[in-house]
Amino acid sequence: MIKTISYLGLGTMGSGMASNLLKAGYELTVWNRSVEKCEPFARKGARVAKSPVEAIRDVDLVVYMLSNDQAVEDVVFGTKGILTGIKEGQIVMDMSTVLPATSLREQEAYAKRGVDFLDAPVFGSKQESADAKLWIMAAGNKAIFEKVKPVLEHLGQTVHYFGKNGNATAMKLVGNLIVALEMEALAEGLVLAQKAGLNLNTVMEVVKAADFRSPLLVGNGHNILKRDFSSNFALKLMLKDARLIEKFAGSLQSPIPALRVVEKNLASAFALGFGTENASALIKALEKEAGVEVNASK
Ligand code: NAP
Repeated sequence: MIKTISYLGLGTMGSGMASNLLKAGYELTVWNRSVEKCEPFARKGARVAKSPVEAIRDVDLVVYMLSNDQAVEDVVFGTKGILTGIKEGQIVMDMSTVLPATSLREQEAYAKRGVDFLDAPVFGSKQESADAKLWIMAAGNKAIFEKVKPVLEHLGQTVHYFGKNGNATAMKLVGNLIVALEMEALAEGLVLAQKAGLNLNTVMEVVKAADFRSPLLVGNGHNILKRDFSSNFALKLMLKDARLIEKFAGSLQSPIPALRVVEKNLASAFALGFGTENASALIKALEKEAGVEVNASK
């Protein structure tokens, strides 16, 4: 049974998950590159480590939630990285959104040390992370998955097993392809509605009720109308994911014509300086082109 956990990466997503692990009663060690994010956890009784290798010492399970492939490279394969100290029998789980090829590289490196590895990315954002309502996918050895599942159940509302390593990160990219297209559809639709002079609140009433409704469209739509672009899922991360999807789909010769359009708009919004705003700020690239601002209070 898993009792001791190290959590590395206390960003938007990681901080909610690490809090829920503490609440669930696990003995928790935390590490974050910017050390100040560890302070609230220290106050709640977590041990704070000075490096990834120090964080992972003697724990049953190591979990990390990092920005991107480069961050995983640094934290796992770097000089004070996890691989410099991980021991046979420990379990490692990467919940970051990375390329499936990165998950496989991690799995191989850990296997050489007798360590089991799960890739376990998530759907849901800041709120779902804080409320332990994430949708979690996991891949790797089935027996190890079963061992870790009770931990995942403290973080999410559903847990889906995907078979061999790399499959969960593949599913995450499949899902984010759909998310990216939904965001683009919402942005294009709202700009058109604004240009057509429709009442934007009534537009959102329809988006909320009609057969194409989704929580993602409703949440982001209302925030756009209020011009609230505070970040739950940063635009720069969605751009990162679009590039991962392009690479992954390219490796399988799977067509992604619409995703390329979204990627271009995300890159334009990023170039306009909106990278740290919420991904819905993608609409700002379209607004610039259209010469309008979608704003319900105007
Ligand atoms: P975030 O708030 O930007 O946090 C990123 C974390 O990674 C921080 O702890 C950051 O440390 C750390 N980090 C970045 N580069 C690093 C490096 N080179 N070495 C060590 N640590 C590094 O991002 P997030 O929103 O939590 O997202 C984390 C992952 O979850 C991403 O892969 C994202 O795509 C995925 N995801 C996000 C959402 C969402 O809605 N936000 C939803 C599903 C999945 P510092 O604090 O020092 O910067």
